[in-house]
Amino acid sequence: MTPQRGCIRSPGKFIRETTNVMAGKNSGSCQCGSVRYEVPQDMKNAGKCHCLMCQKSTGSGSSTVVFYDINDLKVTGETKTYTYTSDRGNAVTSHFCPKCGTKLFLTGDTGFPGLALVLAGTLDDNSNVKPQFVVFDKRRPAWDSDDPSIPHFAEMPPG
Ligand SMILES: [Zn+2]
Ligand SMILES: [Zn+2]
Repeated sequence: MTPQRGCIRSPGKFIRETTNVMAGKNSGSCQCGSVRYEVPQDMKNAGKCHCLMCQKSTGSGSSTVVFYDINDLKVTGETKTYTYTSDRGNAVTSHFCPKCGTKLFLTGDTGFPGLALVLAGTLDDNSNVKPQFVVFDKRRPAWDSDDPSIPHFAEMPPG
C-alpha cells in the first residue's frame, strides 16, 4: 500500500504516517492511536447521516459511516461505550476511545443487527468510501451538502 495521509504532529510525537496491513484488509484508529482496528478492504455499504445525534457526537454536520459485518471488525485497545436512542427510536451504541474521545464505530441490535458502522474518517485508507445514500436529510445544515446524485431520505428509508 502507499503511505496513508500526512503525519499529524501532536505534542512531542508523530502519529503513524504509513500503514502496513495485509492485502485485502484496511485498518483504522482513533486520533491518539490507543485504539486500532482491522476491517476487510471491501465494505458492505456506506452512507451519510445528518441526525442530531450524529451532529452532536461528531461536532460536524453529519456522520459518514461504512458498513461491515460485525464479526469482520477486529479491535485492539480499550474502548468505552455510550448508548443513546436514535431519532428513529432504536438503541445505538457508540464505541469511542476513552483517552482521546474519538468515536470509532456504532453497533445496534435493533437498528442494524450484525453490522458495525465504522466512522469513515477513522479508516487509515478512506479513499474508496462512496456514500450510497443520505438519511435524515431534513436535519441537514445548509453548510453540509451531499452528492445530489445519490438517494436522499428525509428520515430513514422505509422498511
Ligand atoms: Zn484515542
Ligand atoms: Zn445519525
